[in-house]
Amino acid sequence: MQRLEAYIRNIPDFPEPGIQFKDITPLVKTPAMLKLAVHQLIHPFLGQEITAIAGMEARGFIFGSLAAWELGIGFIPLRKPGKLPYDVESMSYNLEYGSASLEVHIDALEQGDKVLLIDDLLATGGTAAASCELVEKLGAEVVACAFVVELDFLNGREKLSKHKIHSLIHY
Ligand code: AMP
Repeated sequence: MQRLEAYIRNIPDFPEPGIQFKDITPLVKTPAMLKLAVHQLIHPFLGQEITAIAGMEARGFIFGSLAAWELGIGFIPLRKPGKLPYDVESMSYNLEYGSASLEVHIDALEQGDKVLLIDDLLATGGTAAASCELVEKLGAEVVACAFVVELDFLNGREKLSKHKIHSLIHY
């Protein structure tokens, strides 16, 4: 994972003072690293039944849709409010900086679906916890949550204690 870590750029004080922003754009523009990251994200789950990948707007779309392609299954976008055109379920949560909410189409998943949730980064865990609740609201099961980066010092795992978590790089 040291290879991947070399492609994550730290931007101090973005988007506000005190935040060390982990910029994954150098990683995703490098074909071998993008492939490595996607393969490592799904690797622990290859023997398990997964029926869909859900990814959070916006960077979760990059890794999530590639993981879905790789597994030959569908991708479910969890979007910021007002973006999805059909009926939605929504969930509010707190961020490392500010607060937000996510929405999903009510017919995106159903009972019996087994979902792998993917995002670029786990910080305080608010985004991922809300995403798990959205998936479960639709009657589906969260098999695990996978992240390229986990900020261990923010203890996001505690908010996801009932779920399996897989992270490639820890800070
Ligand atoms: P949280 O809900 O606190 O776990 O925040 C996770 C979400 O916010 C992810 O979608 C990340 O893309 C983004 N995020 C939070 N903190 C950072 C950070 N330090 N660097 C990059 N992205 C971040």
